[in-house]
Amino acid sequence: MKYEAFIIKYAEIGVKGNNRHIFEDALVQALRRALLPVGSFQVTCIAGRLYVEAADDFDYDEAIAAFQRVFGVLGICPAVTIRRTERRLPDIDALGEAAIRYFESVYGLERGKEAAPGEEKTFKVRCRRVDKSYPMNSMEVDAAVGERLLDAFPSLKVDVHDPEILFHVELREQVNLFSEEIPGPGGLPSGTAGKAMLLLSGGIDSPVAGYQIARRGARVEAVYFHAPPYTSDRAKQKVIDLATLLSRYTGPIRLHIVNFTAIQLAIYEKCPKDELTIIMRRYMMHIAEELALQNDCIGLITGESIGQVASQTMQSLAVTDEAVRRLPVYRPLIANDKQEIIRISEQIGTYETSILPYEDCCTIFVAKHPVTRPRLDIILRHEEPVREELDALTRTAIAEEEIVTCGGRAGNGSDAP
Ligand code: ATP
Ligand code: MG
Repeated sequence: MKYEAFIIKYAEIGVKGNNRHIFEDALVQALRRALLPVGSFQVTCIAGRLYVEAADDFDYDEAIAAFQRVFGVLGICPAVTIRRTERRLPDIDALGEAAIRYFESVYGLERGKEAAPGEEKTFKVRCRRVDKSYPMNSMEVDAAVGERLLDAFPSLKVDVHDPEILFHVELREQVNLFSEEIPGPGGLPSGTAGKAMLLLSGGIDSPVAGYQIARRGARVEAVYFHAPPYTSDRAKQKVIDLATLLSRYTGPIRLHIVNFTAIQLAIYEKCPKDELTIIMRRYMMHIAEELALQNDCIGLITGESIGQVASQTMQSLAVTDEAVRRLPVYRPLIANDKQEIIRISEQIGTYETSILPYEDCCTIFVAKHPVTRPRLDIILRHEEPVREELDALTRTAIAEEEIVTCGGRAGNGSDAP
């Protein structure tokens, strides 16, 4: 094994003033949860530096994958750390020797061995001396460690401008040696915002929308509207699978499954066909808002994007939005092109599931020519005669909801619900 420790970089939470410890604690907790299935690790935050140290053998790639699902992690630096002995940091000889061993194990260099032509590596040492009592300054450490590395490895060359290896030597509460930074997902640690209700369909967009809001620290619950027997159990299972995939980032997701058939049929029978989708969407949003309020959510999340389909023109969005009165609706994809959304869904691992071809309740009753510029006053007028019936059906649908908890521990997701 090359590394036994990691330094976790977390940019944004560094600037939160007095709230900083709340964010740090949340990140520490999230890392601990994410690492549970990987092995035994110690996660500590010392003087604004977050360390993860392995207590045992572990799979390196699995650990990196786990870190990359923890929001708030900006970068992951696999590191070699050296503790103080008798309160003292290692002297320059010990530092030099540790550096040499680092290059042997991480870059596979051999002491005294000439490189084949073209196989040389360039490097630069960058010392940060946080502990000002260290008897050499950082430039002296750079030079001394660099010299020892050059002596040990003829295949190394110094390049101060554009080195292939930027070797960090940090002199702090301990010594940290690292030269790689693997990007994390960024964002803010889970649970540092509030909770929101995601309208999760089986499509590509809504899982991405949920991911993006969760990435800002929000916890997520989800609601799925199905229309049995018009939509199948397989379509429902697909949404459960998507929620489970999403839970690898967010922690377990409570998925509310609402039977929408009766509402849909009532709208189908009693409202103009070309307004079916928009009225249906208004009722979905209305029910989602009710469920959100019942479950301490302080916002809704949808995967809508301007102009993507008839129900997402700006006019349609305005009419849909009016159905939600008490909560903000977060639409993180509002300005994204489909290709951009697809790219994110591939990155987060939901794409393959999203494109499985099961029917969706919106696609079953759609009109050939849905309105693209609905007017609120007209829609309200057409809803009026069915409102009472729809309100009653809404109450029944909510009372009969099914709740499935998707995903196990955060960062895992392998536990079946
Ligand atoms: P997606 O790819 O997320 O399915 P879409 O392009 O199919 O989106 P619409 O069907 O117009 O778009 O839905 C817009 C948004 O409304 C979805 O992103 C989702 O948030 C919500 N939504 C649509 N259908 C459902 C459903 N059956 N259950 C829950 N939410 C839904
Ligand atoms: Mg959809």
